[in-house]
Amino acid sequence: MQMIQKLFVLLFLSGSALAEMRVITDFEGGNAEVVSLDETTRTLRLMPKLHEGRGWPCWWYFQLDGLTPGEEITLEVQAQPRPFREKSILGAVWCQPKHAWLSSDGKTWTPSEAGTLSADKVMSYKLTPTSETLRLAWGPPFVPADAEKLLNEIAAKLPEAKRFELAKTCGGRVVHGIRIGEENAPHQVWIGARHHAWETGGSQVGRGFIRWYASEEAKALRAKTCLHFIPIMDVDNVVLGAGGKDAIPRDHNRDWADAPIYPEVAAAQRMIDEIHAKHGLDAYIDLHNPGAKDSIFFFGPFAFERMTGIQQRNYNRWMELAASHITTPLPVEPKYRCATYVTTEEERGRMSSGWVRNHTGDFTLSVTLETGWNSPLMTVEGYSNIGAGLGRALAWYLEQNPRAP
Ligand SMILES: [Zn+2]
Repeated sequence: MQMIQKLFVLLFLSGSALAEMRVITDFEGGNAEVVSLDETTRTLRLMPKLHEGRGWPCWWYFQLDGLTPGEEITLEVQAQPRPFREKSILGAVWCQPKHAWLSSDGKTWTPSEAGTLSADKVMSYKLTPTSETLRLAWGPPFVPADAEKLLNEIAAKLPEAKRFELAKTCGGRVVHGIRIGEENAPHQVWIGARHHAWETGGSQVGRGFIRWYASEEAKALRAKTCLHFIPIMDVDNVVLGAGGKDAIPRDHNRDWADAPIYPEVAAAQRMIDEIHAKHGLDAYIDLHNPGAKDSIFFFGPFAFERMTGIQQRNYNRWMELAASHITTPLPVEPKYRCATYVTTEEERGRMSSGWVRNHTGDFTLSVTLETGWNSPLMTVEGYSNIGAGLGRALAWYLEQNPRAP
């Protein structure tokens, strides 16, 4: 009798609870290398897959099938132990957000409970799915399909908007942009995201910005401005789910040299040169999402003290306005940081914001907005609010002509 009961329990377990978990990554931005999958404890351990020469292995994003609603599973994330560049191995912290991000419909993303870090640097997240399949990611994803949807949405809303093809990547993919406003408008602005593919929050901030820019509130700003907006620069690495940062021989953000490797960087340089030569460029803002801390800050110019009066005035005005308008979900730091870890003039000159500074005028503002990611506040909506704040700061900034002596 006991034997029969045991058999019954075994049959019951195998029949009902043990659908096998399956990891799927064959979609835009998908990345996960399965280290182990223990069906008895329902524990999946993974690490970001290394894409040789394509930068930091930090981003992960996958679909998990074979779940039982209500049954707890454990997701463990460890660092990729192979070097991404020469002998450099990426620290675990970059692939271990405090919270994993979950979606059961691929659209709405919510943070998990905070994970716990073991002494041997494995982050464990306890998850109780409510559906048989889940998408899980390092942070709320933003892939070319999202960019496409966003640009279509903006183009449909604003008849004066013109979508354009910035370039075709080395991988043959299109880098899309949108221009809003008359070509010869009094003010010219260039805003873009994802020189670093893994910094998905940069595009999330960009989406918040461009939606605000297309809103009624921005009508007066639109009337006097020609904006160029690029939601994703490093499309190839975003599609592959590769980090991009510190790619070999250099990443997109360090490719703003005389002879860029990436066609999309070369195309942006050509367009910015032309815009500045014809009309003058007022502002260049590059959106990043780098730090494992949760702060939001701007990288400003090197050697601020050596700048001329109009430059200092404009950078100071920008910072004051940014600090009063970028306040939620966290306030932006009210002082510029300086990327002092970049030590040579040569490298500083081929960072995107540095190149723009060197190729434009005294009145041109060129900054990067660096939004932290490691916080449950950095939801799609949280990032979006930062983008809207950025738009309001821009409106007020252009309200007083930055070109006036
Ligand atoms: Zn970056």
